[in-house]
Amino acid sequence: MDLKSNHTAPVLTDSPPISKSRLGVHSLPYSPPGPAFSPGLILTIPRKKTGILDDVRSCSWLDAMKSSSPPHRKITKGVNNEFATSDADVAYRSWMVKYPSALKSFEQITNFAKGKRIALFMDYDGTLSPIVDNPDCAFMTEAMRAAVKKVAKYFPTAIISGRSRDKVYEFVGLTELYYAGSHGMDIMGPVTQSISDDPINCFRSTDKQGKDVNLFQPAAEFLPMIDKVYRSLVESTKGIAGAKVENNKFCVSVHYRNVDEKSWDVVAQCVHDILKDYPRLRLTHGRKVLEVRPVINWDKGKAVTFLLESLGLNDCDDVLPIYVGDDRTDEDAFKVLREGNRGYGILVSSVPKESNAKYSLREPAEVMEFLKSLVSWKKSSAL
Ligand SMILES: [Mg+2]
Repeated sequence: MDLKSNHTAPVLTDSPPISKSRLGVHSLPYSPPGPAFSPGLILTIPRKKTGILDDVRSCSWLDAMKSSSPPHRKITKGVNNEFATSDADVAYRSWMVKYPSALKSFEQITNFAKGKRIALFMDYDGTLSPIVDNPDCAFMTEAMRAAVKKVAKYFPTAIISGRSRDKVYEFVGLTELYYAGSHGMDIMGPVTQSISDDPINCFRSTDKQGKDVNLFQPAAEFLPMIDKVYRSLVESTKGIAGAKVENNKFCVSVHYRNVDEKSWDVVAQCVHDILKDYPRLRLTHGRKVLEVRPVINWDKGKAVTFLLESLGLNDCDDVLPIYVGDDRTDEDAFKVLREGNRGYGILVSSVPKESNAKYSLREPAEVMEFLKSLVSWKKSSAL
C-alpha cells in the first residue's frame, strides 16, 4: 500500500460479487492470504429475494451468526488451583503449542524487542474490556485503565476498535493514546505533513484538549448513507425484543446478543432487506453482532500501517509493532504484521481458533498482565 502517493478514498469500484455466496467460508476462523478483500471477511449478500426468510436461511446467515458467536468457556479450577483437565483444556493446551502464551514467551518477545521501539496497537472490546450483554456497558476496569495509561507512557499506543472513535474514547478516556474507530475508518493521529495532502479524507482538526491532530476518514463519502441505513435498521428492528442497533459512524452494528435465538432469523432478515438496496455496503459478522459497512479497501491492517506512517515508524528496522486483539477483524492487522515480518499479533481467546497471530492471551486479565510486564521490562532495561 502506498499511502503517500494515493490518498484518495480507497473505494473499490467493482461491485461485490453477487452470483455466489461465500457464506460457507465464514466458518473459517481466519482469512487465508489473498486479495484485499479476504473471503473469510466478506459475506456476499444475495440480491434475489426468493421468499420471506428464505434468503437468510438458504445462504446460511444463521449458521454464520451462530458460528461467529462462540460462548465463552468457563475455566474450571481444581483443588490445587490448576486447570482441571478436560477435553477443552487439552485442546486449548495443544492449541497453545502453535500460539504460545505471550506471558510465558515474554522473554522471547523482549529478546527480539531489544534495541527496538515497540509500538502498541490494541482492540477494545474483549481485549481491554470484557464482552458484556449490553454493549453500552463494556467498561474497562480502573486497573486496566491504569495499565494502559502506564504502557502509553513508554510506547506509542493506539486503540483500533469497531466502535465509533468517540465511543471508544469515552470508554478509555486517556488522552495519551491514538484512537481509530469504525474498524480503522476514522483515525485520529498526530499532525504530519506526509499524510495531509488528501483534503477530502484527511484533514486537520483538534482533539478534546484543543491539540492539533490529523483526522483520516477514508470512507467519508459514506457518512450520509450509513446514517440512513442506521435509521432504517432502528425502525425495522424495533419490534424485535433485545435487538440493539448502534451507529458506529462508518459502520452500523446490529447486536443480537440479547435476542432470543428463535428470532435471530428475523434480525438477519431485517438487515438483509435493507442491505439489498445498498450494493456499496457489505456485511461482516462479529460476536453476536451483524455489522454493515462500506465496501472499501480499508481494514484494521491498513489502519496499523497508516498509524505507523503517521507516527514516523513505518519502514523502520528498529520498530516492533505489537497488535493485541480478539476479533475476526483483528486478523487483518495480524496478517499485515506477519506477512511483513514486522511484528507480532497476539490473539486474545479462551478457545482454540486459527489465527494470523503469533502469540495468545486467554482473556483481558492476561492482557493487563502483559501490559504491566512490558512496562517493567522497559523500566528495568532503561537502568
Ligand atoms: Mg474485540
